[in-house]
Amino acid sequence: MKLTILGSGTSQGVPIIGCNCEVCSSPDPKDQRLRSAAYIETEDAHICIDIGPDFRQQMLRAQKTKCDAILITHEHADHVAGMDEIRPFNFMTQKPVDIFAEERVCKELKTRFAYIFSENPYPGAPRANLHPLGPDDVFYVNQTKVQCIRVQHGGLPILGFRIENTAYLTDVKEIPESEMQKLRDLEILVISALRKEPHYSHLSLDDALAYIKKIQPEKALITHISHQMGLHDEVQATLPDGVFMAYDGMMLTV
Ligand SMILES: [Zn+2]
Ligand SMILES: [Zn+2]
Ligand SMILES: [Zn+2]
Repeated sequence: MKLTILGSGTSQGVPIIGCNCEVCSSPDPKDQRLRSAAYIETEDAHICIDIGPDFRQQMLRAQKTKCDAILITHEHADHVAGMDEIRPFNFMTQKPVDIFAEERVCKELKTRFAYIFSENPYPGAPRANLHPLGPDDVFYVNQTKVQCIRVQHGGLPILGFRIENTAYLTDVKEIPESEMQKLRDLEILVISALRKEPHYSHLSLDDALAYIKKIQPEKALITHISHQMGLHDEVQATLPDGVFMAYDGMMLTV
């Protein structure tokens, strides 16, 4: 299995328009973060997790040309605003794209992208089949098994996903105790941390490190990073063994 970090930034991305801080001005490509998203390739499936506003650019940059399914963690714009960019897959396969998201998020997508889901979409509009999920659902993309994981994003219940021995949890504030059994024996845990200081709906770096210690994956990647986190290399130097700051384009083979 191959995991590609398509984007590792928080909702505004890094750099932020108009910000002159040390991180936003850094020439290090690892400090330049598009909105958080991932791409997973298994023996038989090509899976996108989240399609934020940078989706087109991310797929081109990573040279990914296939998409058998899109998994959506939640409805915030930094995770869904790329809906219109699925059209190349429609043209390539002559089929709607399969999108998996929880029931509430499916409803939200239908409202926000009414032109896609109307009775008579205009010619050339994106085409998608929505597959509503529950927090304990297991489903398949071709033969690849996907396990849903419930996490809390502040007051908003959202989804994470486990595919084989990799779990992707973004926009996390809390992982309910009941979900811990779904996170056993992980080779890779991708988990979000916004910055060092606490935030009402995101884990801080210390919070994320505490979860990593508890879950004990072989490797952990920190994603959904704000410019307030600090410079990539400086933060990386403070992390325990096996824990890595994700960066755009990072690739891991399991
Ligand atoms: Zn987000
Ligand atoms: Zn900045
Ligand atoms: Zn969010």
